Amino acid sequence: MVPGHSDSGASSMDKAKDSPPRKQLIQLIRDLRAYVTYQRSLGAEFLPGSTREITHPQLTLGEVRVELGECKRCKLHRTRRRIVFGEGSEKAQLVFVGEAPGEDEDQQGRPFVGKAGQLLTRIINAIGLSREEVYITNIVKCRPPRNRNPQRDEIGTCEPFLRKQLEVIQPKVICALGTFAAQTLLKSDERISQLRGRFHTYRGIKVMPTYHPAFLLRNPYKKREAWEDMKKIHGEHIT
Ligand code: SF4
Repeated sequence: MVPGHSDSGASSMDKAKDSPPRKQLIQLIRDLRAYVTYQRSLGAEFLPGSTREITHPQLTLGEVRVELGECKRCKLHRTRRRIVFGEGSEKAQLVFVGEAPGEDEDQQGRPFVGKAGQLLTRIINAIGLSREEVYITNIVKCRPPRNRNPQRDEIGTCEPFLRKQLEVIQPKVICALGTFAAQTLLKSDERISQLRGRFHTYRGIKVMPTYHPAFLLRNPYKKREAWEDMKKIHGEHIT
């Protein structure tokens, strides 16, 4: 063999294939793939530092409900009677998000069916829509004991299902009912009286926070402000 010939032609390409940078790159891709698979198995919706969410365009609300199953992911399952997933149109342009089911909702398995629910129905009708044309749900799907506020761990466990519901529906506007829903969606500590009255954004969707119907029943003088909020939603040409 002529000295130096081993460095030419196919043999140098073979060497390049096994060169350290290429090996490192292959290992990096393997590690990244394993990391993404692991994060997905934990229920991650997007990767830290990424602005691009993993969406679920192929899902339906029925499939999200099946995935939720007879959920025991957080401690609220111990005291609930029924899961209150949500109801309304899968194509709704307007979604109402409350805090958590109450006693009536826990009994019937439907959102906003008590006195506060009746007021919400009247509010929906007042902007020319029916309950069947909008979608109504809550931050957590099970009633907290004695109607206490949902706790941080319970919200954190249940919220991915709200996110999936909203990804399926892709509404034009979300109406956050009450302090808890508004603060959770907007990741804010501000009071509802400071948040209401103007649009905010949740994952590219307009959010109008307003008073919870149960609060309006106790404080009827606040209905005028709630009506101002609803008029702004109406102005978005929701159909
Ligand atoms: S509140 Fe949500 S996460 Fe907790 S048990 Fe009910 S459905 Fe599951």
